[in-house]
Amino acid sequence: SNRAETLEFQAEARQLLQLMVHSIYSNKDVFLRELISNASDALDKLRLASMVDKDLDVDTADLHVAIEVDRDARTLTVRDNGIGMSRDEVVQVIGTIAKSGTAELLRKLRESSDAGASQELIGQFGVGFYAAFMVADRVELVTRRAGESGGTRWESSGEGTYTVEAVADAPQGTAVTLHLKPTDAEDNLHDYTAEWTIREIVKRYSDFIAWPIRMTVSRPGAEGAEPTTEVQTLNSMKALWARPRDEVDEAEYHEFYKHVSHDWADPLEVVHMRGEGTFEYEALLFLPSHAPLDLFSPQGRRGVQLYVKRVFIMDDCEALMPNYLRFVKGVVDAHDLSLNISREILQQDRQIQVVRRRLVKKVLGTVRDLKAKQPEKYRTLWTEFGSALKEGLIDDTENRDTLLEILSVASTHDAAEPTDLAGYVGRMRDGQADIYYATGESRTTIENSPHMEAFRAKGYEVLLLTDPVDEVWVERVGTYDGRTLRSIAKGQVDLDTEEEKAEAEAERERQRTEYADLLTWLGGALADQVKEVRLSSRLTTSPACVVGDAHDITPTLEKMYRAMGH
Ligand code: ADP
Ligand code: MG
Repeated sequence: SNRAETLEFQAEARQLLQLMVHSIYSNKDVFLRELISNASDALDKLRLASMVDKDLDVDTADLHVAIEVDRDARTLTVRDNGIGMSRDEVVQVIGTIAKSGTAELLRKLRESSDAGASQELIGQFGVGFYAAFMVADRVELVTRRAGESGGTRWESSGEGTYTVEAVADAPQGTAVTLHLKPTDAEDNLHDYTAEWTIREIVKRYSDFIAWPIRMTVSRPGAEGAEPTTEVQTLNSMKALWARPRDEVDEAEYHEFYKHVSHDWADPLEVVHMRGEGTFEYEALLFLPSHAPLDLFSPQGRRGVQLYVKRVFIMDDCEALMPNYLRFVKGVVDAHDLSLNISREILQQDRQIQVVRRRLVKKVLGTVRDLKAKQPEKYRTLWTEFGSALKEGLIDDTENRDTLLEILSVASTHDAAEPTDLAGYVGRMRDGQADIYYATGESRTTIENSPHMEAFRAKGYEVLLLTDPVDEVWVERVGTYDGRTLRSIAKGQVDLDTEEEKAEAEAERERQRTEYADLLTWLGGALADQVKEVRLSSRLTTSPACVVGDAHDITPTLEKMYRAMGH
């Protein structure tokens, strides 16, 4: 039937919409950026679909975005003739939020009573289409999926339910119509029916969009003549990545970043590069300023889009970036690839592999430069993405040295400041051969462990590794700068000078004789629990501690294996 059906938003979607309706985000203008960004994505997808499927019945002659205003009705429409949506897609993607981390975000928002903090959270999350509800009290969407004959009309006031109905005469693509809230300067609600407001917002946020963004403007006629109207393109459409670095200003980079990443916050750093020679490409990559909520979720959105000569080919191109750099966002435009290339073939393509190696080197080199020259930025990056970067130490042997250079770890040297390995080595004591580390759940647990006593007493610095991934990389890497990374909880530790050793040996010999009976008795009594009971030089205040063999697994790993059922 053609009757409108009323459906409910998914719980998370409903909560997020409430926040938009009641506008916790102060920069309302960005709603237009979000709608244009979606329209642009839809045009990219349509062009790609028509190239892949020559039989698809679509019109690709004049792909564009149109902004239409009705000043009397106070409506603003953003229309595209892109891929469109089927009815099911509308219900799926507009009625629910598939983004992982949504529940987590909403929990944090509920807990935070500070308006500034809430804004920041929403900004980091980015709300996409729902941003329309910051400026509109009713939103209508009419869409027809490319290749399908019937369309769908969707409407909602953002209050828990929406309606969907079939429409027969929808043009290909999507039109989103906003019934605008009253202008309210105090609340940053500008007049979004005013030509100059729209022009300015498009210029500021969407200038680089590769499709024309058009608007019909009206100009007063000369000397009593009727006003004239003309269609103007509001954006310059220049592919940012193809422009020379010195001709792009920071604001342009930032807005482009927001389009490709769906993030509302500025990036931390821009990496713009070009490869010439046998395989030409341009890459415009970004290091974000905060981790997405889904950084450690397998369904998390990954970062790099692939274009071939300005034509969008795919999102999340995993062939271009190793998993541990999944937080890097941006675009790679490769000139010599087939437009029909599949993900599987890409993974094996030799030239893509070469590009990937260069991108990885450049990104890691950028992080190294930040560390040397912009410590504040480096610190943010490491706090947000250090755990992911450390995964690289496990399997990216080619870049291990660079990764070890950019690594930061907590240390007993300074409670507030983490150290790098070079710093540790620089502070090593005369005669100290190894780099000492301890793993554990937290700094406090490690610092209170009996293993630390001898090291503290002797004044040796110990690296404090509390991230689950630490345990794995530290084993895999083994040495730094020719020095063994040695766990203070494993095997024999030797902290003394030759002289101290001779003295201690004499003392131990004396004690061995003195305690021989006790040790034999303890060894027998604990035979089922331990391999051996021996006198130790590790402890200064605790009476005893349990030590693993050099090749034993650590308690944390043991726990992990047990949990996995081994
Ligand atoms: P995002 O763009 O980050 O995916 P949005 O909330 O902006 O999130 O949009 C949600 C989804 O709705 C998009 O991923 C897309 O599938 C669909 N969508 C939104 N606008 C359009 C449009 N103009 N044409 C086709 N699909 C759209
Ligand atoms: Mg979007």
